[in-house]
Amino acid sequence: MHNIISQLNSVKNRIYAAEKANNLPRDSIRLLAVSKMKPAEAIIAAYDGGQRDFGENYLQHALPKIEELKYLDGIQWHFIGPLQSNKTKAVAENFHWIHSIDRLKIASRLNEQRPDYMPSLNICLQVNVSGEQSKSGMAVSDAESLAQKITALPNLNLRGLMTIPAATADNAELLKQFGILKNCFDDLRQKGFDIDTLSMGMSADLETAVASGSNMVRVGTAIFGAR
Ligand SMILES: *Cc1c(COP(=O)(O)O)cnc(C)c1O
Repeated sequence: MHNIISQLNSVKNRIYAAEKANNLPRDSIRLLAVSKMKPAEAIIAAYDGGQRDFGENYLQHALPKIEELKYLDGIQWHFIGPLQSNKTKAVAENFHWIHSIDRLKIASRLNEQRPDYMPSLNICLQVNVSGEQSKSGMAVSDAESLAQKITALPNLNLRGLMTIPAATADNAELLKQFGILKNCFDDLRQKGFDIDTLSMGMSADLETAVASGSNMVRVGTAIFGAR
């Protein structure tokens, strides 16, 4: 697991360089280490390297790891995958964040199922910025109305927006898609929503995402290796 520490450090160095290139203060970008499909040992290695935020997509893989690793102080679990309504309870009871909210139904269930002894569940709305039918996420034009409804749910804490752009090697196209999310974020803030998180950028495109205003990058492969 030696590799994981050195790969984690090189991702941190990429983030520092991106912060510098964009005149941002050091540590203004939060790194979410995406540990989906990776064993608990890999997560422990990254934790030992100082990492605290971990992202998981598949509930059935995540839950045993969360249980096994609950002794790790300050670890924060982020659910970043699609979620069916019959599986919301496990997210409400085990995660600190969910980035993939695109329907009120799921949010309402999470609000009801969040245990009283836990702090509010942090929420990012997933927005589809590519227009591709196959991609999850709501239309930009629906974000304000869902944000409004979620703000009214006491056990949820609306934190921001997330997107997964269409796969493309064209940097201009990527900038365009990230820019759509950034505009949506700025628009909501201007309308008074108290949000602080713009979750965009992965292993291959975190520099482009940071240049576009991201402040949370979700990085799997570059830390943990291929899946
Ligand atoms: C897998 C995944 C990532 C990480 O992707 P990498 O290319 O491995 O860095 C980020 N976000 C989401 C939603 C993912 O499913």
